[in-house]
Amino acid sequence: MRRAPMIWLLVFCMLLGTLQPVSGGEVRPGFKIKMDGVVQAYSARTVTVQVAGKDIPTGDMPAIILDGRTLVPLREVFESDGFGAKVAWNADKKEATVTYGSTTIVMAIDSTTAYVDGKPQKLDVAPKLVQDVSDPAKPGSGKTMIPLRFVSEQLGHAVSWDPGTYTAGITPPVPEPEPAPAPESPVVAGDGAGDPPVLVADGAHRSLPTALLQAPVIWSAGTGTAAPSVDRPSVESGLEARELDPVELQAVEYSLKDGKPRFEVRADGPISRVDHLVLDKKVVLDVVQAKNALGNRSYGDNPVATAIRTSQYAETPPTTRMVFDLKENAQVCTLSLSADRKTLVVEFAPKAINRIVLGQNDKGDYIQVEGMAPTGVDSFRLSGPDRIVFDLTGTKSAIGKQEAQAQGQFVLGIRTDQFTETTTRIVAVMDGTADYTVTRNGSTTLIQFMASTLTNVQYTSSGKNPLIGLGARSNSIDLAGVRYVDDYEDGKFTVVLPGDYSQVFGAGDLAINDSSVGSIELVQDSAGRTNIVVRQKEYYEFRLEEAEDGYQLKGYKPRELYSRIVVVDAGHGGSDPGATAGSVKEKALNLSMALYLKAHFDASGDYKVYYTRTTDVYKTLQYRADLANTVGADLFISIHNNATSSSSVNGLETLYMPGGTVDVMSSIAAARIFQDNLVPATGMANRGLKSREGLYVLRNTKMPAVLLEIGFMSNAADLSKLVDASFQKKAAAAMFEAAEKVFVRFPTGR
Ligand SMILES: [Zn+2]
Repeated sequence: MRRAPMIWLLVFCMLLGTLQPVSGGEVRPGFKIKMDGVVQAYSARTVTVQVAGKDIPTGDMPAIILDGRTLVPLREVFESDGFGAKVAWNADKKEATVTYGSTTIVMAIDSTTAYVDGKPQKLDVAPKLVQDVSDPAKPGSGKTMIPLRFVSEQLGHAVSWDPGTYTAGITPPVPEPEPAPAPESPVVAGDGAGDPPVLVADGAHRSLPTALLQAPVIWSAGTGTAAPSVDRPSVESGLEARELDPVELQAVEYSLKDGKPRFEVRADGPISRVDHLVLDKKVVLDVVQAKNALGNRSYGDNPVATAIRTSQYAETPPTTRMVFDLKENAQVCTLSLSADRKTLVVEFAPKAINRIVLGQNDKGDYIQVEGMAPTGVDSFRLSGPDRIVFDLTGTKSAIGKQEAQAQGQFVLGIRTDQFTETTTRIVAVMDGTADYTVTRNGSTTLIQFMASTLTNVQYTSSGKNPLIGLGARSNSIDLAGVRYVDDYEDGKFTVVLPGDYSQVFGAGDLAINDSSVGSIELVQDSAGRTNIVVRQKEYYEFRLEEAEDGYQLKGYKPRELYSRIVVVDAGHGGSDPGATAGSVKEKALNLSMALYLKAHFDASGDYKVYYTRTTDVYKTLQYRADLANTVGADLFISIHNNATSSSSVNGLETLYMPGGTVDVMSSIAAARIFQDNLVPATGMANRGLKSREGLYVLRNTKMPAVLLEIGFMSNAADLSKLVDASFQKKAAAAMFEAAEKVFVRFPTGR
């Protein structure tokens, strides 16, 4: 199946498919419509139409979707009280005229040209006469069905679309009291040729400042003894000083108590006093009235300290200095004495986050985290409702579990809790898609939210398909002119729009960081086209589709789009040459044949093919198998060449994973077809099929896999063929034919 029809079929299935689960919008059981003289089942959800928030009864004929556009019964909708247009119908010309204010639209059945105040305009879908023929005995009267969005927008009404309930919402225009002031947000007029509608970038939901500026959310650890803002170790000491006789410090013992590293310093009598100071990665304790008999210790495997150094720091009064050389700064050192004051306990704990502030500055909302510096900040978006999760790794929180509402520009609420033993989680509840940056300065982490440089761009991840809403009220993207570039090796998928849409969508990056998508970037290329670059973490292909409020870029798994998915694996590569014969390296032969095979697949268009490599690079066997498994390949073809110590051994063999039969789609069935095609096509000696369950790529791929050994590089006659480009092309052509036969014999059913 070719690419374009596949997409069409998919859209068709989405609109008319019977497999879609039903909720929200209603599916009329047995609903059949007659249109263009053809009776067809309409099993998709019908559309609810609301004007100014009120349901509009559509009478006998519900609103339906054709070619991605909502069509509504003419009079019922446009003449409704909420809409308030005037409608006239010319039965001879089959022409509808809709008038609202000073604007008149004339549309004819089956014509994709409408006339707005006499000027021709292109329609995506023509008005249709549609008849409800669900009951053949009592067919309904034919209804004039008109494209809702086109008419509404031409008449200054805004149209929204709720995909959850299949509701098209129409908002009538607000009358303008005065001549319109110059808008602050950019307004883009059409280029004159065909006059597309005016596009307005809507930017942030609220302008700064909001109530959050005056009412920040502040959580502090209650004690006031929390870690200082300077990112150094800190010491908490509640020791009471006494004037006692000098003692001798005799021993230091290390232990873990309740998971906390502690050092016990033993004296031969009660200790008078301990002073302390901290330096970078050091805690210095001066034990006053104490003679030093401790010596120095270093610790190789201690979780906190690398060494304790001691000295007789002063003689009068005798003072022992202990320097704890710490592995990191993020430690709180707590000092205590045993009841008899003969043991000084020096206990360490990871420093804690002790202050979280949700506030607002001139850039927008921010979250400031103070206390302990995290080792990292992992962030990702969740939708429904929109949230951004920040995981501060390597931290303890002294804040505990907290939750608050807020009235920020984007942030509507904040929650925090200790998520794991070593990770503090902060969740920002968002209104809309703000961009954000995370910066760290010493012990302060600043999460700054700001209006995205992208406008009208909204990311949601509903279920398995990532969805990027491009919410311009625009009909002006030529879908047929959109190009898709799947740069799966670099984790990038680029959608090239046929024109410059920077005025509509802005330009820049939007951080996403959920499990599917890393970021979205809109950038103009040198030809002036807008490229939407999706940096992704999985293998999705994005398709630009019409949505009720503009367009959407939807990510599809390969199996949702393609009925035939193949992985071609050119064996070895880079630092792994494979077999060698003089200056000839197997990796080069394998790659050359794989690229000739690629030319066949590229020309066919019936396949989605992933290549484990298309250049001389090293890829692990695990990468090769993982790629095939992750994209859900139907067939794995690994191309290799053989060598052995005997120069007389020659011929072609196909290796397979045992366990199947030739009657079902299996490794052996595919291997049979490949061997039977390749031997006559190449003229190589037939060495037959070989069962190889130990081979990594055969064993670890979840789909039928074949490994072709085209010839023996150790045999002079085979080698002279293998290096010959015309032979390589013949072999590649036979591989392609074999793949075709495999899919004809064993259709995937997708
Ligand atoms: Zn090999």
